[in-house]
Amino acid sequence: MRTSRFPLFTSKDTPADADIVSHQLMVRAGLVKKLGAGLYTWQPLGLRVMRRVERIVREEMNRINGLEVLMPAVQPAELWEESGRWSLYGPELLRLRDRHERSFCIGPTHEEVITDYLRQELRSYRQLPVTFYQIQTKFRDEIRPRFGVMRAREFVMKDAYSFHIDQASLEATYQDMHAAYSRVFSRLGLRFRSVGADSGAIGGSVSEEFMVLADSGEDEIASCSHCDYAANTELAASRPPAVSVSDPVPAEERSTPGIHSVAEQCEMLDLPPSRILKSVVVMADENPAVLFVAGDDELNEVKAAHALGAEALRLAEPEEALAATGVPRGFIGPRDLPADLPQRVDYRAAGLTNFSSGAGRADWHWINLNWDRDMPLPPRADLRTAVAGEGCPRCDEGHLEIHRGIEVGHIFQLGTKYSEAMDARVLDEHGTPQPLIMGCYGIGVSRVVAAAIEQNHDDSGIIWPAPLAPFDVALVSIGADRSPAVAEAAATLYERLCEAGFDPLWDDRDARPGVKFADMELIGIPHRIVIGDRGLAAGTLEYRARDSADSEAIPIDDVTAVLQ
Ligand code: ATP
Ligand code: MG
Ligand code: MG
Ligand code: MG
Repeated sequence: MRTSRFPLFTSKDTPADADIVSHQLMVRAGLVKKLGAGLYTWQPLGLRVMRRVERIVREEMNRINGLEVLMPAVQPAELWEESGRWSLYGPELLRLRDRHERSFCIGPTHEEVITDYLRQELRSYRQLPVTFYQIQTKFRDEIRPRFGVMRAREFVMKDAYSFHIDQASLEATYQDMHAAYSRVFSRLGLRFRSVGADSGAIGGSVSEEFMVLADSGEDEIASCSHCDYAANTELAASRPPAVSVSDPVPAEERSTPGIHSVAEQCEMLDLPPSRILKSVVVMADENPAVLFVAGDDELNEVKAAHALGAEALRLAEPEEALAATGVPRGFIGPRDLPADLPQRVDYRAAGLTNFSSGAGRADWHWINLNWDRDMPLPPRADLRTAVAGEGCPRCDEGHLEIHRGIEVGHIFQLGTKYSEAMDARVLDEHGTPQPLIMGCYGIGVSRVVAAAIEQNHDDSGIIWPAPLAPFDVALVSIGADRSPAVAEAAATLYERLCEAGFDPLWDDRDARPGVKFADMELIGIPHRIVIGDRGLAAGTLEYRARDSADSEAIPIDDVTAVLQ
């Protein structure tokens, strides 16, 4: 490709809303263009990168016998009513009506659709296990879209769903998926970790996230200094309290062990299902303090609690805690809160020793509150004080260290959550109908592109890991308009590289060398070859790797060897 035919749309200006480097560079390098909040056009250069991610994802999904499908983005509300999520999903679900006044949503995920599809097609355990996947556009009406494509509203996900007759088969596929994900992220040249995770709104019991390590990541990972234990801090913190907790919450008011579905929580508290999101209680010294609500959107429990001021609500008893706010139970919103709640909470000073969220524990109490989605995102809680330095829950030898990460993948063992609700069964070996046992597995394909940039950039721009680069090599011809020798050598080299299987970008614009170099560095092509009169006279070209500070003269004939 030649830049004369491939306008680069690079820019020197950093957009005002770009807080993190990947967002700035994706806009400046002309990879994406903003259409509206959380909505981006993938420009030709950016799409090349995303297609490279997709290719690797496809190869690894196919390798574990995944079958590619393409499901509709628009999904009938009836399916979501069957699964129970129509009322539970909250404002992140974009709902719409057609001309016949029928309700639909734009899929944030596809458990309902795939379950509906396969309850019609799968008949017998003999057809199992089977895994389907798609690479497709999702829509989530994120409370605060930001960081460019990292937290967009419309984004590209690879979502896969597996179907089994028993738990052992699910576990085997889950392990295959784990290995496939590890291969995907290794092949993409990313530094990542898989961590234990809270399965959140999607449900299920076992789940792991794949985190690309980056300081700008929204997630926090606690990993052991000694063994391979690693978990999202939400989960890492949910282990039993380090101190013994006396229990002012009457036993009959405590929840039973196990994860309560949102529907159960609603029932317990006699609240309309659609108003409920998620909740958490913090154990503080002797008293269970109240931490609050988060949704199945980007707010997590700790951020939400932070905003609401856990310290101010640190009372012995949840009901009293709510009463103390003077706000009716179930309809608390930031506007209703006392004005003098602290903006920042020092968890250690507040005596908070343990957070719990999601994992089954007998000694906590669910509290459900309404969340006001217009509330601005609060400053990040500093979880370090809550868990760092604490002992590893697995090995007793190490202590937990905190890193930041970007969630690029998430794998779940769903069990029968959807198949039971939607009556998706197959006959087992005795001819008895059994609910399908399911797993689901996501990769944020478009987010991966941003995550890769967070890990690979310098002051001049992006430094693509080779498997992601939009082009393999940049050819920069200097003074070709004045020198027929340069023009000819560049054209010959371009042809040679194409024939040798490279994907070169020939910068044949009539622009100053400095402009061309700056653009090629900004867009991050791994190799650069400069063709100029002086070098040609000596039979050489100038070669520079994007991640190196120095260039070198190489004989023209050695070019393909150097690029290998
Ligand atoms: P997050 O915690 O970042 O909101 P999630 O846990 O809600 O993500 P999943 O439901 O696990 O997301 O979806 C699978 C993958 O889709 C995620 O691991 C992530 O890489 C990607 N993803 C989720 N939300 C977005 C988004 N708003 N923009 C871009 N990618 C996203
Ligand atoms: Mg989310
Ligand atoms: Mg998440
Ligand atoms: Mg997730």
